[in-house]
Amino acid sequence: MNINVAIDGPAGAGKSSIAKAVAKSTGYIYADTGALYRSVAYYTINKGISPSDKAAVVSLLDGLEIKLEYIDGQQRVIVAGEDVSDKIRTPEVSMGASVVSAIPEVREFLFDLQKKIASENNIIMDGRDIGTVVLPEAQLKIFLTASAEERARRRFAELKETEGITFENILEDIIRRDENDMNRTVSPLKQADDAILVDTTKMTIDEVIALLEKMIRETEERVG
Ligand code: C5P
Repeated sequence: MNINVAIDGPAGAGKSSIAKAVAKSTGYIYADTGALYRSVAYYTINKGISPSDKAAVVSLLDGLEIKLEYIDGQQRVIVAGEDVSDKIRTPEVSMGASVVSAIPEVREFLFDLQKKIASENNIIMDGRDIGTVVLPEAQLKIFLTASAEERARRRFAELKETEGITFENILEDIIRRDENDMNRTVSPLKQADDAILVDTTKMTIDEVIALLEKMIRETEERVG
């Protein structure tokens, strides 16, 4: 039986770097579902459509083909034949993803793709609603969080080479995205009842990785 690990939490909690490292050391596939919402936003913006124009975004979904590929264990996102993995990391796309992710049709559109990947692999999937909606049957669920200031500090450390980016902008973006993600009607960001809360504010990345590896080993023993 495949083991599914769900990691949810707010923007900048370190989900993707931690999930990536843990997937590598445990031999699981890492699926970053934020990249899917980012891809929809990227495609929308590229077509000259505002992510908040709900009807126009929904009408784009019909012809949209998003694929996840794994090259040397690295996830690549292919949108309409183009590898957009690096282009979807801008602040504009981040905010656009938060906006399009509140559209129920967008969530439905991406649901089957996420289910399919999880059914075929031992997987660590990160997002906002993985433990609550996408993989409610996951054998291990983790809710990874940290204070907004600490999350902004970490994001800033990653992005500070990018022109025009300030700590204050990042903190504002993070707070706004949290608001959007927690307050939307469909699949809001929320800890599943059976998820384990891991607050990383005062932890190093290596400590978090070691903790998750231990949790996965224990899950494997329990599931058999
Ligand atoms: O995780 P990441 O920051 O890449 O996600 C970008 C945006 O996509 C989030 O702010 C959130 O609005 C949305 N998202 C979501 N559900 C997921 C993953 C991401 O709504 N499972």
